[in-house]
Parts: sequence; C-alpha cells; structure tokens
Amino acid sequence: MFPFIFLGTCTIIIVLALSLFYKMQRLKELGGKIAALNFSLEEMDEQAKLIMRTDIELNKTQEELDKKIAGLDALQKLSQEINTTLEEKQIFNKIDYKYLEELGFEKSLAFLWKNFEREFRLYLSVGYNQDTSEKIRIEINTKKDYFLDLIENGRTASSASLPESFLPKDKVDQLFQTHSFIICPVLTQEGDKGFIFVGTQNIETPVTKGDQEFISILSNQIAQTLDNARLFEKTWKSQQELEMKVEERTRQLTGALEEVKKMSKRKSDFISSVSHELRTPLTSIKGYAAILLSEKLGSLPDDVRNKLEKINRHSDELVHMINDLLDISRIESGKVDMKLESLDLKAIIDKIFDLLFEQLKTKNISYGHNIPDNCQKILADRSQIERVFINLLSNALKFTPQNGKININANCLNKIIQIDVKDSGFGIPEEAQGHLFEEFYRVDNTINQEVKGTGLGLALIKHIIEAHGGRIWVKSKLGEGSTFSFTLKAA
Ligand code: ADP
Repeated sequence: MFPFIFLGTCTIIIVLALSLFYKMQRLKELGGKIAALNFSLEEMDEQAKLIMRTDIELNKTQEELDKKIAGLDALQKLSQEINTTLEEKQIFNKIDYKYLEELGFEKSLAFLWKNFEREFRLYLSVGYNQDTSEKIRIEINTKKDYFLDLIENGRTASSASLPESFLPKDKVDQLFQTHSFIICPVLTQEGDKGFIFVGTQNIETPVTKGDQEFISILSNQIAQTLDNARLFEKTWKSQQELEMKVEERTRQLTGALEEVKKMSKRKSDFISSVSHELRTPLTSIKGYAAILLSEKLGSLPDDVRNKLEKINRHSDELVHMINDLLDISRIESGKVDMKLESLDLKAIIDKIFDLLFEQLKTKNISYGHNIPDNCQKILADRSQIERVFINLLSNALKFTPQNGKININANCLNKIIQIDVKDSGFGIPEEAQGHLFEEFYRVDNTINQEVKGTGLGLALIKHIIEAHGGRIWVKSKLGEGSTFSFTLKAA
C-alpha cells in the first residue's frame, strides 16, 4: 500500500512542482510583459508631455503671430495716415494712443533736434502729463550728446541697452514710467534729426526684437514723410514767391500798359488836333492857289504858274498825309465804326485794278487774280477794304519795274479768307520787313529816294485789317518781289 501512496504523493509533488514551475515561467513572462508595458507607458507619457509642450509653444507662437499681424496692421494704417500729412506737427499727432495700443505700447515720445536753438524739441507725448513730459524733455536735453550720437550713427537703443552712464536703470524706469522701451532714430535726407520713443509698463509683455523692427519701420516712415513735408514746404514757398513775383510783374505791366494807353491816347489826340489845325490853313492855301491858277485875278507868268502848281501838288500830298494820319488815330482810338457787310471780293479787286489801269498800262505790268469760288464773299467795311487794296496795289505798282507782274490770290480755310497781293518788284531787305507796318517807316534805299511816299500807308492798312479782326504780314526777297498777305472773315 505504502509504495502506492508514496508513488501517488511523488506524482502529485511532481505535478505540483511542474505546475509551479510552469506558473513561475508564466509569471516571469508576465513580469517581462509588464516591464515592456511600463516602458511603453512611460514612452507614451513622454510623448504626451511633448505634445502638450508643443501645443503650448504653438499657442504662444500663434499669439505672437496674432500680435505681429495686429501690429503690422496698426503700422500700415498709421503709415497711411502719416503719409497723407505734409505738416511737421501733424505727422507726430497721428501717432495716437489707439495705434500705440495696437502696437502693444502705452507710452510714446518724439523729439526733433532744432539746430538754431541747439536743443531737442518735444513733438509728441502720449501717456505722460505735461509736467512729466517737461521733466523728460529737460533730461533728454542734458543728455543731448548721447542722443545726437545715437541718431547720427542710426543706432536703436532699448531699456536693456541703455548704458548706466545715461542714468541708472531704476532712475530710467522712474523717468519714463516704463518697464521696457525702444528708442529709434529719425534721420531725414534733408538733415532733420530726431528720435521716437515707445514703451510699456507691462512686465508681462516687454518689448521684443519684433517690436524693435516695427518701430524702426515707423521711424523710417516718419523720416520719409518729414522729407516730403520739407519738399512740399520748399515747393510751396517757391510757388508763393513765384506767384508774388508774377503778381508784382503783372501790377507793373498793368501800370505800364495803362501808361502806354494814356500815351497812345495823348498821341492820337495830338495827331488828330494837329491834323485838324493843319487842314484849315491847307484848305485856304489850296483855295488861294486854285483862284490864282484860274487866272480870274489876272494872267500868270509861266514861272509863277509852275510854282503855284507845285504849291497845289504839295498841298494835295499834305492833305493826303493828314487824312491818313487822322484815319490812323481814329481807327486806333476805336472812333471808326466798321460797317461790316458781305462783299464780293472779285468785284472789289476788279474795281481797284480799273482805277489803277492807266498806271498799270504805262508800266506794262501784267495783272490778274485767282479767287476760288469758296473765297468770293468777305465780311468787311467796303470803303476801308477798298483803301487796303488801293494802298497795297499802289505800293506794288510803285515798287515793281516795267513789264513786271502783280497777282492777287485767295484761299479759304475754316471761314477765314487769306488774300495774297504778290508783285515781282524790287523786294524788301530782310532787316526792314519787321518795321514796314510802323508809322512813317520807309525803307532807306535809292528806290525810295525817287518814289514818293509818307510811310503811313502800311500802318493804316494794318489798323484797318486788325479792326476787322484779321492780321497782315509780308514775305519778300530782295530782287524777287514781295507778297503782302492778310486775313478777313468769310461772309
Ligand atoms: P509809302 O509807300 O508811302 O512809303 P507805306 O507804308 O505804304 O509807305 O510803305 C512803307 C515802305 O514799305 C515803303 O516806303 C517801301 O519802302 C516799302 N514797301 C511797301 N510796299 C512795297 C512793295 N510792294 N515792294 C517793295 N517795297 C515796298
């Protein structure tokens, strides 16, 4: 029995041992798995922590980005406002609390160096009362060399970089009432010097590198706008000066014109009264000469008759001259009423050629006209225009040698008719052409010593044409002839 019991017990023990061993093995296996699991858990924990850290950082970056975008937006708006300003003070006034807040600051100051006064003048103060602003201004001016150096070297300063020699940090904070700040130089091309200060009391949001960049952009913008303002000021000033000069000149010219008008009127009055005074005795002289020449008072010896005829001829010339002079002065002073009517140009020219027929024939001068159909009707005063043609054709006749040619052409453009009186005569020297229409002007040459004249004909014609709203000019070449052209309105 015992061996069976022993065998059974041994078997049980073996089975139990085997089972224990197996369980131990399982336990070992499980322990390994738990360790692996623990390791994974730890890893996961690390990763979760990393994710959280990244998330916080991302949020921070997002916040910073948002701040930067808001700052950029504010900067852009502020730049636009500054850009549209052309007055020194106004430029700084645009930097108000609203924009500063958007940029993340509550305090700002701006100073410009005034060379004449040798000090910095305050142009902007935001976030300070008057007393504090004044205290800061005085302090800045006691340290003017430091600031001038900063500006001239284009350096930016911040609360962190301000040297102890400037003021100890606590004093600086006390003076500017800020925790951190930036000072950016403003240096213009025109030589203006200054700086802009921005600061914040907020310990949580001290000024960053990004803020420094923003304020640098702003100070550059201010410098540019200041340049524009100076340029505008200069242009405006010179325009004012120019306007003043123009005004002064206009005043002088108006005065001179008035004087010329007065003188011209005096001259016309003088000519007109002298002409009248001369006409009366001349009429008597002509009258007496005519009576004597009629021999009603007794017959005349030949030499006396010759002299009387001379008196008569010269008197006629004088009367002619006086009449021309009187006409010039009357047209000049607007006393002659031009009776404008529609006239047939061809008919007028034919009439004048007829009048001069004998002289034209004597000199064997060929003549003619070419008046196109659309230039037939002119708007003019008949008697005055006849005088124009008589004078021009008489001149052409006088200054054209035997067997020459005289032609009248017309052309019409935009209801203006241009008439050219062309001769193949001696021509007029170039230097004389500009004086032809002046009163009493006669070309100084041998021809004129033989040909009689007063030098009043062309002056009178010019007045008549201008009184018709037209103009007259001459083209001529010595030895080749002359063309006198004038314009009239088409009827
Ligand atoms: P006048 O003929 O009485 O001298 P005008 O005023 O008519 O006065 O002319 C001024 C001058 O212009 C003339 O003296 C003459 O020298 C010059 N002149 C005018 N018409 C002609 C012409 N067709 N050809 C050459 N010279 C001319």
